[in-house]
Amino acid sequence: MRMLSVIVPCYNEEESVADFYQELMKNETFFKEKELEVEVLFIDDGSRDNTVAEVKKLREADPRVRLVSFSRNFGKEAGMYAGLEKSRGDYAVLMDVDLQDPPSLLPEMYSYIEQGYDSVATRRVNRKGEPPIRSLFARMFYRLMKRISRTEIMDGARDYRLMTRQMVNAILQMQEYNRFTKGIYGWVGFETKWIAYENVERAKGETKWNFWKLLIYSLEGITAFSTVPLSIASVMGVLFCVLAFALIIFIVVRTSIFGDPVSGWPSLVCIISLISGVQLFCMGIIGQYLAKTYLEVKRRPIYIVKEEL
Ligand code: UDP
Ligand code: MG
Repeated sequence: MRMLSVIVPCYNEEESVADFYQELMKNETFFKEKELEVEVLFIDDGSRDNTVAEVKKLREADPRVRLVSFSRNFGKEAGMYAGLEKSRGDYAVLMDVDLQDPPSLLPEMYSYIEQGYDSVATRRVNRKGEPPIRSLFARMFYRLMKRISRTEIMDGARDYRLMTRQMVNAILQMQEYNRFTKGIYGWVGFETKWIAYENVERAKGETKWNFWKLLIYSLEGITAFSTVPLSIASVMGVLFCVLAFALIIFIVVRTSIFGDPVSGWPSLVCIISLISGVQLFCMGIIGQYLAKTYLEVKRRPIYIVKEEL
């Protein structure tokens, strides 16, 4: 018998855990039919509510439910990594607990694995029910990434993805601390089938992401999968050198023809401020990469487990 690991990161999701389990188990006949043994691996990301208790309740009734509980909130990326690391299945699927990743898609996804794909990923065709500014920025982010990164990152891709053990192992080999899974999937390669579906709104509870968090997460994506921003400094440097040369020639010629009446310090101040602005901006970019490198070099663990069942 083959095993399917369902990995569910949860952070303060006491309302959703039981509903999710019920919805998932509607696939029971499909599991039987395909002779799939199932384990449901809840990753509690340091929840401060009753999420752990809810999962334990489920586990009492059904030993296929497993729990890994973190010592604090490490973020969804860490949750997904831990889930993949602790999973034992021949296949693993990552799902949100809020039912935004419909478990009813599983049979269709599995059929593609049977056809020989290494992974089946999902993307939303629209962003219905999302704040317009967020959609706008998200779209800008994906367009930018397409230009500055060689790793393929699909617009609207969700984290909902079914993978073979081979691909899971490949992902586990990427032990970077600053994780951006959407890029990691593209980086490891393999044959991926994309399924599109309409955006589903969260069943219960509320989203853990605000605009700021998403913005910072997108910077994570850029620094993790592109080094193009680092070359901005060089490009700017060359541009300003050319400009400076042109100005020098202009001033030498003008002075030798018209003499040198002392004036022009306001323009000087403007130029100095502009260029120092550009310099600080470029230093900031270098700083971002340096900060990431610093964290990477420390080789801190991606997560700490407090309890495991
Ligand atoms: N999540 C997590 N750790 C966090 C934030 C979120 O494990 O620090 C989980 C959360 O419980 C949910 C999934 O990640 O199962 C997606 O979170 P959410 O629904 O808030 O994000 P959205 O769907 O709004 O992007
Ligand atoms: Mg959600």
